Amino acid sequence: MVEANYDWTFVRIETDTGLTGLGECFFAPGLTAMIRDLRNVLIGQDPRHVDRLVRKLQRAASGAGSVSGIVYNAITGMEGALLDLVGRACGVPIWQLLGGKFRDEVRIYADCHAGVGLESVGPSLEHREPAWFQAVRAGLTEEHLHEPEASARRARQAVENGFDALKFDLDLDVESQEGQLRALTTDEIQLMAARMAAIRAAVGPGVDVALDCHWRYPLADVIRIAAALEPYGIFWLEDPVPPFNPRSFLTLRESTRVPLCTGENLFTRHGFRELIETQAVHFLSPDLQKMGGLLEGRRVADHAEMYDLLIAPHCIAGPIGLLASCHLCCAIPNFAVLEFHGQDVPFWDEILTGLPRPLIQGGRVRVPDTPGLGAELNEPVARGYGKPGEGWFTE
Ligand code: MG
Repeated sequence: MVEANYDWTFVRIETDTGLTGLGECFFAPGLTAMIRDLRNVLIGQDPRHVDRLVRKLQRAASGAGSVSGIVYNAITGMEGALLDLVGRACGVPIWQLLGGKFRDEVRIYADCHAGVGLESVGPSLEHREPAWFQAVRAGLTEEHLHEPEASARRARQAVENGFDALKFDLDLDVESQEGQLRALTTDEIQLMAARMAAIRAAVGPGVDVALDCHWRYPLADVIRIAAALEPYGIFWLEDPVPPFNPRSFLTLRESTRVPLCTGENLFTRHGFRELIETQAVHFLSPDLQKMGGLLEGRRVADHAEMYDLLIAPHCIAGPIGLLASCHLCCAIPNFAVLEFHGQDVPFWDEILTGLPRPLIQGGRVRVPDTPGLGAELNEPVARGYGKPGEGWFTE
């Protein structure tokens, strides 16, 4: 586990032939203990039968009631490691195992957060300050977090770094509601629109800008927010309403011309089914380090394609997870754009070897043609950022 902006959690699977596979999991409380408990399901098995092994893992967790939830964070990283291993064994890249490529490069969008982007949080979203964080924080101040001009500046920086698609968090302007819903004031909605206006003025019409609400607002507010944002041609409005009720998306969809997106907290194809079949949103954002695996991601993408929907995967991973996501993103016909959440992590690129650096160039990742994932973990560097108290694989 690497203590970065989040806990980047890696799974390595070793075989008696000497081949290994590497995967990355989305963070969760108790994640490494879950992985260690689940490994008994895989020990002694033939790793080539990936789908069957994933179902064995799923079955092993069934007594714990897991038709969804964070046990899939563990299973998903294990599936990624199996696919890396099988690709290496067969001498083909993971994208080949997923059906082949529609494109050689994957378009990446930069998550920008707000006027200031630097953050590091633990498995329960608690703020923390690892040594690297303290080093890069020098000179940064949170005081401009909410100012439209600070967001505009950050947008310009991302575009200068080659990105032509960005995302900002819209829900920072309003004090935290701790799970409560309340009606926003007109001033608060105008502040959101002013921040988007500043961003659009800074980057022009050629850059796509998505906005994220993190499930924070009741339907009435979101209808007003969407109306205020309509003039700015936004890419999508993400997780505008609480996540539990797909009908809210249907009502919202009928009320606005702003495209909608959700999916980062959904698990397996079953979690996406109703949203897809009702066309409740326009973009789906499965998290491919969490939702059940790259094969399951392929199934969701195929299902969505039948309903004319696009896939814009959520990704807050380190480079191992982002690269695994790229293998799926190049292999599906209805791919839109993939998230990158590491602009402020100074060592983001350093823990990977075997590919050109930086991995993201001109806002794109060129997907490798070499076997498996196509890259290795730079273990000495990664260990240097290892999370205190966590072991290093089986050590
Ligand atoms: Mg989001």
